[in-house]
This record gives sequence, structure tokens and C-alpha cells, in this order.
Amino acid sequence: MLSFQYLRARTLDEALELLQKFGSNASILAGGTDLLVSLRDGIKRPDYVIDVKPIPEMHDISVASDGGLTMGAGVTINQLLEFGDLPRGMLAIRQAASSLGSYQVRSRATVGGNLCNASPACDLGPPLLVLGAVLKVVSKQGDRLIPVRQFFEGVKTTCLRPDEVVTEIRVPPAETTISVFLKRKRIRGHDLAIVNAAGALSEDGRLRIALGAVAPRPLLIDDLDQSMLKQPRNVIEIVLSSISPIDDVRGSALYRRYMVETLVSEIIRHFSGQHFEG
Ligand SMILES: Cc1cc2nc3c(=O)[nH]c(=O)nc-3n(C[C@H](O)[C@H](O)[C@H](O)COP(=O)(O)OP(=O)(O)OC[C@H]3O[C@@H](n4cnc5c(N)ncnc54)[C@H](O)[C@@H]3O)c2cc1C
Repeated sequence: MLSFQYLRARTLDEALELLQKFGSNASILAGGTDLLVSLRDGIKRPDYVIDVKPIPEMHDISVASDGGLTMGAGVTINQLLEFGDLPRGMLAIRQAASSLGSYQVRSRATVGGNLCNASPACDLGPPLLVLGAVLKVVSKQGDRLIPVRQFFEGVKTTCLRPDEVVTEIRVPPAETTISVFLKRKRIRGHDLAIVNAAGALSEDGRLRIALGAVAPRPLLIDDLDQSMLKQPRNVIEIVLSSISPIDDVRGSALYRRYMVETLVSEIIRHFSGQHFEG
């Protein structure tokens, strides 16, 4: 029978104390939409479950005067969607959030949980990769800032230590950026991606493409630039040479390769002929 001790952290300090004491035998609980499935299926068997939902500052979302976005790790996907001030250049984040799960799932699921669960198919991975987001990670030993591109280590693994918690996700200003998120799934309703992808093009000509569900972790390809949009095949070949898709219940490796071609072509079409204002 499944048995663990439920611990409720009302403040960040309390959470850090608990993580220092029990971290290696504990799981952090946010919305629980991934964790409860892992507990039910016996994939995770922690002795302690530390609930970080009550921590007030983990639910804040704001845009600074320079246009940078800061989201508390406990911001739910619906809270993100309801946030009216999301900068234009960060449209890909909104598109990804609105494709995640059902309304009920989005009411519980958090931004931090989506990243920390580290599914290769997580929907917020690709947009946050192309937009250069950074995670604020806190423990009793101090704080560190980890770029999302360094955070994922493999299927469901991250570089977090057992005594650490993600408190914030920071997205740098993206006023002069255009971004887009696309997703292919099996059904019209809610489902994880067979393949998802995001692209960002900035005024300085920097082109970034990120893909999910085609490698052990969400993948960023950033050695691209705007001039390459004139040779779509070259961009597609670069992307295809970076991926290592597998067959699973959602699709075959071959189908995923075709879908990567389709999605990258759509991103290229989306960005081709873009002119920046001002
Ligand atoms: C029916 C259904 C449909 C879904 N559809 C999608 C979908 O379309 N796209 C998609 O990407 N996902 C989907 N998911 C997965 C899930 O909803 C998301 O990954 C969600 O964002 C997880 O957030 P959470 O707050 O529920 O995380 P939790 O389940 O609470 O936690 C997930 C993991 O992250 C860790 N964690 C959570 N918060 C922190 C933190 N602040 N610091 C450190 N570690 C932390 C937990 O210990 C756990 O290991 C779906 C899930 C269900 C049940």
C-alpha cells in the first residue's frame, strides 16, 4: 500500500527546512497532475510529500518595466492564460499554455511542475527554451539561476538537487521578438504532444527553434539565423540531424520525423517576410 507523510510548507523557509531534512526521500507537490499519477503507479515512492502550494510568492506573475516576465513556479497554467500583460513577443508561451491539458488540468497544473517533471513532451519547454528563460532555484545553501537549456538532463531528470526548489521562471524582455508554438497530438481533445515545437526570431536576426518529444529532453537548436529562412531545406536538415525520436504509444519515430519537417516548415513560413516595427 502507498504510504507517505504529507508535509505542508506555508512559507519558503519552511519548504527549505523540510527539503534540507528530508529532500532525498521526498517529492515536492505543486498541482499534483504529474506527481499523483507517478505515486498511484508506483513510479515514485517518496517517504515524504512536501506541498509547496501554500507559499504565497510562488503564485506571483508580473512584467517588469524592461518587459521581462517573472512567473512564480506555482503559477497555474490557467492563471498564466488569464494574465493580461503577457508581452507580444512571448506569444509562444500563451499558445503552449492553451494547448496543455483540459481546463480542469490547467486549473491545477503549474508552470514549475511542467518544467520540473521534465517530460520530453512538456509543452512549456520549447517556448521557454527559444525565449531564453532562466529558473531561480533556491535551497538552504543559497540561490542559483539555471538557464532552461541547462535544466533538463534526460527523460524526467533535471539538474535539481534534492534539497532545491524552483521558485521562479524568468523570461528576458522579448519586445523585438516574434515567437510561435505548434503542437501535433493524436486527438482534438487534450493529449501530450506527438511532437511540439517553438520558434523565436529576434530583430537582430537570431533564429531559435526548439522541439519536444523527439529526444530524451526538450531540444534547443540555436545556431540559426534569419538569412537561413531563404533555404528552408537547410534549416530542416539541421533540425533533423539533431533529433533522436523513438516509437511509443503516441507515434512512431518515422512519423515524428515527418511531423518535425511539417512543424519546422510552418515555423519558417510564419517567420518568412517578417519585418520588425520601429
Ligand atoms: C489528463 C492530463 C493531461 C495532461 N496534458 C498535458 C499536456 O497537454 N501538455 C503537458 O505538457 N503536460 C500535460 N500534462 C502533465 C501535467 O499536467 C503538466 O506537466 C503540469 O504542468 C505539471 O504541473 P503540476 O503543478 O501538476 O506538477 P506536480 O505534479 O505537482 O509535479 C510534477 C513534478 O515536478 C516536481 N515539482 C513541482 N513543482 C516543483 C518546484 N517548484 N520545484 C521543484 N520541483 C517541483 C514534483 O516533485 C514532480 O516531480 C497532463 C496531465 C494530465 C493528468
